[in-house]
Amino acid sequence: MRDADDQITFFYSCDPELEIFKLIGESIVNEEHFLINFYDEFVVDIYMLLDRPKSKFIAIDWDNTISADKEFFLKLIKKLQKAGYPPFVCTLRAPDKENIKEIKGVLEETNIAIYLTDGKPKRKYMKELGINVHLWIDDFYPGICADTCKMLARNKIL
Ligand SMILES: [Mg+2]
Repeated sequence: MRDADDQITFFYSCDPELEIFKLIGESIVNEEHFLINFYDEFVVDIYMLLDRPKSKFIAIDWDNTISADKEFFLKLIKKLQKAGYPPFVCTLRAPDKENIKEIKGVLEETNIAIYLTDGKPKRKYMKELGINVHLWIDDFYPGICADTCKMLARNKIL
């Protein structure tokens, strides 16, 4: 049994029949984390926000997301890679050597791409690189886009 203090509450409020949700939902339940489908900022630890339906890229935050349960996310990243949903790390951290070293140290075996936006909003940053995101996994959605972003409304946030 997982200790209650180590349990993460994930939020997802879009179509439960979507393949990506089934993949991740199964891991969450198997690893004894929680999953809820209503927005409550005091309860949610990590948001899973659906963005572009046709893209397959999965953007995963580092601080308080992967770092909250490295073992869980390492397994999940491998699972997503196998299933044809290329995951990458997208963090607001600055692109300096120490930050990259820390992240690579944990995820080395996955060969995952790492994007460090240096505080810039993640959605715009990735779009400018030509990368549309299928699903964002992040503890801090204001880092992805502004409050007025329709993507948040579609995910029943705010
Ligand atoms: Mg974070």
